[in-house]
Amino acid sequence: MKIFIIYTGGTIGMVQDESGTFVPFDFELIKNNLPDLSRLDYQLTVHSFNPIIDSSNMNPEIWIEMAQIIKNNYDEYDGFVILHGSDTMAFSASILSFLLEGLQKPIIFSGSQLPIGEIRTDARENMMTALEIASAKHNGKSIVQEVCILFDNKLFRGNRSFKYNSAKFEAFRSPNYPVLAEAGIHLKYNFDALMNNSDKEFICHNHVDNHVGVLKLFPGISANTIKSILDADVRSIVMETFGSGNTTTDKWFLDLLESAIKQGKNILNISQCKVGSVELGRYETSQGLKSIGVLNGYDMTFEAAVTKLMYLQGELADQAAVAYWVEKDIRGELTVND
Ligand code: ASP
Repeated sequence: MKIFIIYTGGTIGMVQDESGTFVPFDFELIKNNLPDLSRLDYQLTVHSFNPIIDSSNMNPEIWIEMAQIIKNNYDEYDGFVILHGSDTMAFSASILSFLLEGLQKPIIFSGSQLPIGEIRTDARENMMTALEIASAKHNGKSIVQEVCILFDNKLFRGNRSFKYNSAKFEAFRSPNYPVLAEAGIHLKYNFDALMNNSDKEFICHNHVDNHVGVLKLFPGISANTIKSILDADVRSIVMETFGSGNTTTDKWFLDLLESAIKQGKNILNISQCKVGSVELGRYETSQGLKSIGVLNGYDMTFEAAVTKLMYLQGELADQAAVAYWVEKDIRGELTVND
């Protein structure tokens, strides 16, 4: 079994400096604290990023580099484990799910809430379980054929997850999609929820366009604030709305959105609620949005919405084509409900 580990940084490999602040450290630290690694009968190859980063410094260039590394080693390895800080892990897992089309091998993101050198660390379990999942096969085929996050004994679809807790080992959740596997005494896979790409061709895309803005609504938001976001140098705006996709019905607000759409901007409606879906037209307060051409983000996470737009914009120069595809389920990231 051959597994490729990409080490980007994050708490898993951090140490405390003189002032007590956690700073990234190299892969040797992980290896020295994980003697069990050498007991595995896997062939492990490690690629460490330079520099090793806290994931708050993650950016599109590193995403493209990660995708390229996977592409270059795709045929030779059975699976990939990406060690990554948890803060932006859901963004990286989401964008890689879009960049890597038709995967037939597992790409498992993991990390930890406490550094591997700490006595109560969650790093060992997370990493060993991630390696086990990255190597798991059934009838000669990889059980997991998609980009996932493994944290605290649960395997989530990457583009359905978000970091919900910065204090517990249970850092991630994916309330709009079932857990893909759970590790207890046995590793139990949820075969019905896992993606099957056996009939697809693997394609690595390598363009990302970050001209994306975000408009998070709140009662009392001013017209000027909205205008400045709509006027920004972006191609698309993720609009975080209330409940099942509702907004104020004030005319000035709908007029501002409509004029931005007429100027060629895409406005994608996702909910501020973490569970449930946008249902345009369910209430009067979302009916007007549909008629002016606001796009439906259904039950997408914020992380999936932003990175999907970056991916589509990287691939497609035509705004109408971006608008068409963003409402479609392209990598299992949304459930269409109308
Ligand atoms: N700040 C860290 C990071 O995202 C947190 C973590 O790894 O859990 O890199």
